[in-house]
Amino acid sequence: MPTALPTVAPTATHCPYCSLQCGISLAPRGRTVAVTPTDFPTNRGGLCAKGWSAAELLDHPDRLTTPLVRSGDRLRTASWDEALDAVAAAITASQGTYGPDSVGCFGGGGLTNEKAYLFGKFARVALRTSAIDYNGRFCMSSAATAANRAFGIDRGFPFPLADIEQAEAILLVGGNPADTMPPAMQYFDAARERGARHIVVDPRRTATARGAALHLQPTPGTDLAIAGGMLHIAIQEKLLDLDYIAARTSGFAKLRSGAAAYWPDRVERITGVPVESMRKAVRILADSASAMILTARGAEQHSNGTDTAQGWINLALALGLPGREFSGYATITGQGNGQGGREHGQKADQLPGYRKLADPAARAHVAAVWGIDPDELPGPGPSAVEMFQRFGESGGVRALLVLGSNPVVSAPDRTVVREKLRSLDFLAVADIFLSETAAQADVVFPAAQWAEEDGTMTNLEGRVLLRRRALDPPPGVRNDLQLLTALANRLGKGKYFSDDPAVVFDELRRASAGGIADYAGITYDRIARENGVFWPCPAPGHPGTPRLFSERFAHPDGRARFIPVHFHEVAEQPDDRYPYALTTGRTMRQYQSGNQTRRVKALNLNDPIPRAELHPDLARRHGIGASDMIELRTRRGRSQFRAELTDAVRVDTIFVPFHWGGVHSANALTDSTLDPHSKMPAFKACAVSVTRIASPDGDQ
Ligand code: SF4
Repeated sequence: MPTALPTVAPTATHCPYCSLQCGISLAPRGRTVAVTPTDFPTNRGGLCAKGWSAAELLDHPDRLTTPLVRSGDRLRTASWDEALDAVAAAITASQGTYGPDSVGCFGGGGLTNEKAYLFGKFARVALRTSAIDYNGRFCMSSAATAANRAFGIDRGFPFPLADIEQAEAILLVGGNPADTMPPAMQYFDAARERGARHIVVDPRRTATARGAALHLQPTPGTDLAIAGGMLHIAIQEKLLDLDYIAARTSGFAKLRSGAAAYWPDRVERITGVPVESMRKAVRILADSASAMILTARGAEQHSNGTDTAQGWINLALALGLPGREFSGYATITGQGNGQGGREHGQKADQLPGYRKLADPAARAHVAAVWGIDPDELPGPGPSAVEMFQRFGESGGVRALLVLGSNPVVSAPDRTVVREKLRSLDFLAVADIFLSETAAQADVVFPAAQWAEEDGTMTNLEGRVLLRRRALDPPPGVRNDLQLLTALANRLGKGKYFSDDPAVVFDELRRASAGGIADYAGITYDRIARENGVFWPCPAPGHPGTPRLFSERFAHPDGRARFIPVHFHEVAEQPDDRYPYALTTGRTMRQYQSGNQTRRVKALNLNDPIPRAELHPDLARRHGIGASDMIELRTRRGRSQFRAELTDAVRVDTIFVPFHWGGVHSANALTDSTLDPHSKMPAFKACAVSVTRIASPDGDQ
C-alpha cells in the first residue's frame, strides 16, 4: 500500500481525466486527499463521477510502487538502477545492431505538456529516432488535419467553451457530452433555456440527443454524406453567406460544383436520414444570428474521418460561421491533454510549437534551443498503427518505450497489437498500474500520478492550465521527467535534460516561440493568476488569444480554405456473414482504456461487465433477452458483452464501449484501416455479427 502524505493544502488543480480539465481543490484526508470542485470557467463548480472519485487512485492497493523486471514468465521487483540499466542496455544493443530507428517511443494524450515535450526531445536528442507517436493519433488526428487544411491552425475550440451558452443554434456531430463530460452540459442547457435550438447527429439517441430540438440518426460512417446533403440544400435554398465567402474564404467555386452530387434524396438513401430533417437542420443554422457546428469522435474516427470533419467545416464556412460572434466550427477534444499533447513534439511529424519536423526553419529553431545541430534531428516517422504493424520486422521498431498509454486496450484490432508487441525484442512501460500493456513488458516503471507532480495541461479550448503537486508520490515512485532524464544520463545525453517541470516548461516556451502554438508569454505565475492562458501567447505582455478567427485565419493570405471532399462508404460494409454495423464509444463512468476507472469501486458498481446496446427488434431476431450475455464477432475477433436492449440505437447498429480489455475488449473487433490523411483507424464503423451465449445468470 502506498504511503503518500499530503504536503500542501488546499491545492487548486484540475481533474486528471478528460479535456474539460475541471477545476478542483485538494485538501488532506488521512493519507490521501479529498476532492472539491471549484468555480473554474470550464466546470463552474460542476464535476462528474470520475472527477469526484479521482483521489481514490492515489492510494489504491494496485498501485505500482517499485520497478518490475521480467524474469521468464513473470515480472519481479527490482531497483530503479537495475530497471534503468536494463532499458539503457536494450536501447544500446538494439541501436548498435539495427540503427537509431529500431527504438521507438509511444506517448499519451494524458501526459502534461512538459512530459510530452521532453518525450519528443528524448526521442530526437537522446535516441535520435524518428519512431515516436502517441495515442492522440486515435483521438484527434482527423479533426486536427482538417482544421489545419481549412484554417491553417488546429486548436479544438477556437473560442471559449462559454460561448456555447450564447449561440442560438448548435449542430453537434458524433459527440455525447451529457455522458462524457457532464459539467459542460450547463452551457448547452443554459443556451436551450435562452431559446437556442440544438441538433444532434448520432446513430444513437444519446442523453445529449434526447435534449436536442432535432436528432438526425444516420448509419455509422455516413456523416460526410449528410454534410454534403446539407451543403446542397443550403445552395439550393440560397442560404449561403456570400459576402463572407467572398471576403474571408477561397476555393468555393470548386466546392459548389462538387455539392451537386449530394442531392437530398440520394443522401437520404445513403444515410437513412430523412430529407426533411436535413432541410430543417440547415434552416436552423442559417436562420440563427449565431450558430456553431461541433464534431467529435463519432464523426472523426473513420477511414474517411478527415474528409468528414472537412465536410462539416465546409458547411460552417459556407454559412459564414467561423469567426462570427458566438459562432464557428470546433471539435471536442477527448483526452485530458489531447490538445497540448499534439503541440509539443510527441507526434511523428512534429516539433514543439506545432512546428513541422520536415520544415528546415523549424528544425533550425528547435535545434538551437536544444543546443544541437539541425542535421542531428531525425525526420518524420511512422504514425502509431504504421509503427505497430512493423514491430519486430526489418527496418521496424524492435525496442519500445511507452509512457502513459495502454495500446493493448485502446488500439484497433487488439489481437494483432498484442502479437506485434510480443514480437518486440524489448518493451518498457511506465504507468501507475499494471495495465494490460505493462503486463507484457520486460521492464515496468512505477509512475507518479496527477496530484503528485507539477505541470501544465492545455484543455479543449486551448487554455493552458496549471496542474499542481498536492502530495508526495509514494516512496519508490518517480515521475516521467525523472525517468527520461535518468535514461538520458545512462545514454550519455544527460546534459540536454532536466527533470524540473518549471525548467522544462521554460525551455518549451522558447522552443514554441514563433510557432503556431506559441507559449512564449505563458508562465506558471500567469496561469495561476489568470485562470489559465489561451495560446498563442507570444510575449509576456500579450493577453493570450481566447478567440482565433475574428479578424483572419492562419493561412498566409488570412483566408479559410474550402477543401472539396467526397463521400466513400466505410471500408467494411455489413454482409451476409457480418450483417450489422458496429460502433464504439465511451460511457459516463469509465475513461479511455479503463486502466484507472476500472479500479474505482464507485465507477465500477454499475458496469462491471460492459453493455452492448442493440435494438429490441434485432435482439428478437437472435433470441436475445435483456441482460443476456452475447458474443460479437467481426473479421478480426470476438468479444463478450451484456445485452442492453434499447430503441435508442438504430435497428441495424450495435454500440459497445471500449474501456475494457480481455474477453470484453471492443478493440478485439475494430478495424485498423487508416484514414489516408490523418492515419486515424476506423474505430467507429465495421461489420459485426451477434450470438446469444448465456442468460443473465450464466445459463446457456
Ligand atoms: Fe474530470 Fe472530465 Fe469529469 Fe470534469 S468532465 S470531472 S474533467 S472527467
